[in-house]
Amino acid sequence: MTGRLRLVAVLASGLLASLVGTGTALAQDATQVIGVTVEHADGFASLSWDSVAGATDYQIERTPVNADDELTGPPVIVGLWRPNRTVTPDSPTFADAGFNPGDRFRWRVRARTGTTEHPFSDPVFGTTLPQWGDPDVPGENLRTQWEQTQAVQYTSDVNEYAYTAALDSASDRVRVVEIGRTIQGRPINMFIIGYPTPPRNVPAVAGSTVALVNCNVHGNEPSSREACLIMARELAFANDQRTLDILSNTTVLIVPTINGDGRAANTRGNSTGQDLNRDYSLIREPETFAFVEMMRDYDPEAAFDGHEFGNNQAGDLPVLPPRHLNVAQSIFDQSKSMIEDFFYERGSDDGWWYCPYGCQNGGEVGLSQETILRNTLGLKSVIGSLLEARSAGGVTRPNETNTPNNRRRKTYSAIYTYQQFLDYQLANQQAIAQAIEESIAFQTSNTGRIVFRGSYPIPAFPAPHPGEAPPPDEDPTPEQILDPPPCGYVLTEQQWSEPQPDGRPVGDRMVAHGIRVAHRIGRQDYWVPMDQPQRGLIPLLLDGQAAEPIAAAQRIAC
Ligand SMILES: [Zn+2]
Repeated sequence: MTGRLRLVAVLASGLLASLVGTGTALAQDATQVIGVTVEHADGFASLSWDSVAGATDYQIERTPVNADDELTGPPVIVGLWRPNRTVTPDSPTFADAGFNPGDRFRWRVRARTGTTEHPFSDPVFGTTLPQWGDPDVPGENLRTQWEQTQAVQYTSDVNEYAYTAALDSASDRVRVVEIGRTIQGRPINMFIIGYPTPPRNVPAVAGSTVALVNCNVHGNEPSSREACLIMARELAFANDQRTLDILSNTTVLIVPTINGDGRAANTRGNSTGQDLNRDYSLIREPETFAFVEMMRDYDPEAAFDGHEFGNNQAGDLPVLPPRHLNVAQSIFDQSKSMIEDFFYERGSDDGWWYCPYGCQNGGEVGLSQETILRNTLGLKSVIGSLLEARSAGGVTRPNETNTPNNRRRKTYSAIYTYQQFLDYQLANQQAIAQAIEESIAFQTSNTGRIVFRGSYPIPAFPAPHPGEAPPPDEDPTPEQILDPPPCGYVLTEQQWSEPQPDGRPVGDRMVAHGIRVAHRIGRQDYWVPMDQPQRGLIPLLLDGQAAEPIAAAQRIAC
């Protein structure tokens, strides 16, 4: 929310008292922070204050209090705010998260110059928002295992399926479909959410504007899965105008757990050890195969892919668009704009620290592999990003050695991200549709070089951010470029219909991707033309010179 909307929301919810801060008090000392206010949101509280000249950073202190504002526990430094974590360094705002929703606290903020601590601000007090949903209203009162245990336990597969079925039956806005099964037979469910009801069948969904969230591909990165299960309930029952506007204009698809076997075992890969986020182009595994078929049928316009990342120095919420060089410029630009012009600004307003994935020396991450969903999406003309919530608290959130606090910060910041994503999608539907149209026209024209691997450059987080590195540049070598592009590829009957060394026949995978192919009966082969919407993906799958092809088909020059 921006400032004015925020004030209205606070007034409307009767929390005016929480805005009464220290702004009217005269500081005893020019280095004492004044103007502290707190605003309560879904699982977090945004603390804002007036910047202090010469301060290098600020510490945020939180103390539990009772209804009479008497301290009931020790004060703890929960945050370290630095001017370089925002695009508005003169407007300090910190999203404090990790507490148990509904608890009441006292907050104080102090500036530091180097290691010199200046006096704390006067305190502000507030009761945080409880877990979303009225406990007395059926449906709204559903809670996941993670919520019920106050983040001590993750939601199990069994609990996920029970919660999902209960939401499905309690809300007219929700339909749950099973898009496939894992190797061990766990259902891969998808919420289809719309208002007043979701579109009635698959073609009707595809004909609507669709936003997709893939919540948990890496089983040991579970925070976005918990976020998605909660967000599904919010979308199913919230009656505020914003939610109704989103759901009246957008069909929201949520896949909470594509990798149920990996989640159950707390492993990155699936039950064979395969990293599913290196398989979205090759679709050797049943989980990714089902997901790609779903994308073909439901035809999303925009998507987010949820992860966690173990770089303690990174921002709260690293994000990154599709950047393979075969992605159309319009898709890259729109996705990048979503991140830079929307998430960076909203995040700064509300106290969350976004940055490009790879920021703060994250290493060789965020590259161009088409096997990664982020890139596969772009090659399918979908706007999007991944989210890589920082695993640990790091120096900026020193209280997160407390495990439930750490889990809550990640989960509630993921909910924030996906709700913002829906806001962006609603506000930019026409621009997104235009970018997709341009992408399809560009791909179908089969003009310009083909690159096997290589990335659009990603700018660093804007100034003042010395040393905050974006993901590395990745320029294609001459062998990784086909210029001019080929006209198509020929698959033999055997390649098309017989199992390949890595699994399924090529034909099954072409069909799952929705790539147009002509069966030439007289020649007993299959012709895959380049002049079609997934043109950028085809050589990556079928050219023997590609980095990870399914098969080496015959390349045909124009
Ligand atoms: Zn991941």
